[in-house]
Amino acid sequence: MNQVLVVGSLNMDTVITVENLPKDGETIIAKDVSRFCGGKGSNQAIAIARLGGNAIMFGKLGNDENGRELITRLKKEGVTTEYIGIEESASTGSAFINVDRRGTNTIVVDPGANYSMDKKYINEKSAVFSVANYCLLQYEIPMETVEFIITKCYEEGVKVIVNPSPVAEIKEDLYKKIDILIVNETELSELSGMEVLEDVFIRKAMSVLINKGVRCVIATLGPKGSLYMDANYKVEYQEAFKVDAIDTTAAGDTFTGALIASFVKGGDLKASMRFANAAGAIAVQTKGAQNSIPKYADVEKFIA
Ligand code: ADP
Repeated sequence: MNQVLVVGSLNMDTVITVENLPKDGETIIAKDVSRFCGGKGSNQAIAIARLGGNAIMFGKLGNDENGRELITRLKKEGVTTEYIGIEESASTGSAFINVDRRGTNTIVVDPGANYSMDKKYINEKSAVFSVANYCLLQYEIPMETVEFIITKCYEEGVKVIVNPSPVAEIKEDLYKKIDILIVNETELSELSGMEVLEDVFIRKAMSVLINKGVRCVIATLGPKGSLYMDANYKVEYQEAFKVDAIDTTAAGDTFTGALIASFVKGGDLKASMRFANAAGAIAVQTKGAQNSIPKYADVEKFIA
């Protein structure tokens, strides 16, 4: 069936461009204010759909204009939206991003309805676990819900893929229920408790995660590409494509969506990593988050 259930956040992002970030107590005038659909869950669901996979979004929105806009966008992208719940007591999640002329930013997130993804709601919608064979999670919903879903998927025979972002710990005994863990260097370092400044330490840190019970770890290494380690500590490296990066926002979300879209269709992991590196390399050449995620045909053309 090759359906990927994406359990995660849906946010409306407001990007405020300023000359300099405001100092404590300062009021400043914006140069530009723009709104974009975002949230890691929604970004990764769209990445899967654009890159040739089938994504079912499982999350919560408020009963408001932002929520309706996010649903419309997901539908347009071909993401299944029927399992998205409307929470009457909260507004749709939002992120307020200030960016200065050097590209330095500050971000304030109001999780809103994302934090009402609770066990009760998951149980009400538990039919969703029988329509997907893979489940992808990030950490922008309550951690106890993430933990609950990992166990639920494990029991229901749904393969679990985790992108632990923003990085946080989960109960140690849950790592053995994770089939694929996709980490960037910061997440790898935090979760392994090791500095990963040199290549040899990257492999060592990945083996720490394998020792926790994860079946396969994939580390994204920015302009260095990506690395894969399986349960037998076998490593595969896939070099990045050489491009001039102008904005790395959503590179990780694009990589994750691309990797999964390719892998669930039966691609082997090495080929899927190459496809995902290409998608990431295209994404970093365009500004923004969802609008920088390429389509399947763009990646095929780029690789050819
Ligand atoms: P994150 O955004 O989560 O920190 P990375 O920066 O590791 O993730 O980027 C994810 C993937 O995107 C990388 O593994 C690589 O394939 C691609 N990528 C990121 N930055 C570059 C770059 N400067 N040049 C080429 N590819 C890149």
